[in-house]
Amino acid sequence: MPRPIEALIHLDALQHNLGRARACAPDAQVWSVVKANGYGHGLTRVFEGLRATDGFALLDIDEARRLRDLDWRGPILLLEGVFEARDLEMCSRLGLWHVVHCEQQIDWLAQHKTEWPHRVFLKMNTGMNRLGFRPHAFRNAWARLSALPQVDEVSLITHFSDADAPRGIAHQLEVFQAHTADLSGERSLCNSAAVLRHATEPTVRGDWVRPGVMLYGGVPDYPEHDAAHWDLRPAMTLRSQLIGVQHLEAGETVGYGSRFTANEAMRIGVVACGYADGYPRHAPDGTPVLVGGRRTRLVGRVSMDMLIVDLGPVPEAQIGSEVTLWGQGPHCEGHATRLDIDEVAHACGTISYELMCALAARVPVNVI
Ligand code: PLP
Repeated sequence: MPRPIEALIHLDALQHNLGRARACAPDAQVWSVVKANGYGHGLTRVFEGLRATDGFALLDIDEARRLRDLDWRGPILLLEGVFEARDLEMCSRLGLWHVVHCEQQIDWLAQHKTEWPHRVFLKMNTGMNRLGFRPHAFRNAWARLSALPQVDEVSLITHFSDADAPRGIAHQLEVFQAHTADLSGERSLCNSAAVLRHATEPTVRGDWVRPGVMLYGGVPDYPEHDAAHWDLRPAMTLRSQLIGVQHLEAGETVGYGSRFTANEAMRIGVVACGYADGYPRHAPDGTPVLVGGRRTRLVGRVSMDMLIVDLGPVPEAQIGSEVTLWGQGPHCEGHATRLDIDEVAHACGTISYELMCALAARVPVNVI
């Protein structure tokens, strides 16, 4: 028997979550953001679950080519544009749309010889201060691009830094509106947080929205809201089994560095999942875990291949009992159980994005 650990990718959850994005941003088209190998879920797998999307957005030409190989004929957007001039040739061949965020990318386009003009999304830096033209330089860039014979359509794009936070989107939205009001072209502004919180407003949702994490059941504004609040379903389950059980006396410790000390006699279970599987090594004592669908807690430091859980709340647990690290758990007392990845991430001081993307290649993945 192989080591008892696997990840499950739930296609019905991907479909459901895509439906949620559509419901939150009515009339807008949806680019499903599938960069980073579909946020760690596997590009081919998420492609299956998200076929009903209007387009896919990602970073790598190689990933774009994989989508074309899967016979995806619809739009694909390169969110950071091309990384060197010769990428433009492949963009033309594969019919990729691409972001233009700096003068150099315009220079490359101007020198590019092609029969197939490009569709580009000109990016404005409205305050994120990552990629994009500053507002005062935007109009010039737009005029330069619009005049190029290599370009047949210029659309407008920006990215919010605080759509999930109290600072909100008002300032960035105002900057974007002020500097694009008289420019033609489709618009794209919203990531998941903006889709969930602000996209009922037509000027915010624009023509295309770009949800990523919400498609996978992650919540950008956790813990203010959780997945149930936004009606999102986990698209990834990481599950394993107990491979050992120990009885501790009061005062005994658990694992490397003896981080956890038992206050009283207790039963603990050893789970076949460690940081080499993508579980965060820095998970503290108390991080939630499901055993047989019941909630319990991590105790002691996570090691490379194993972690330890308190079996106090699950006296019936034994070697072979199912352990859910995150995602959809087994039925327990007639109910479906679930442990949201955001809750685990929050306990570990990180975000669900990081846990999804860190799933290790050695973990077998099954699609259901
Ligand atoms: N748009 C851009 C430009 C991005 O970089 C990202 C992801 O970081 C997204 C959209 C999707 O963001 P989220 O996963 O928060 O929905």
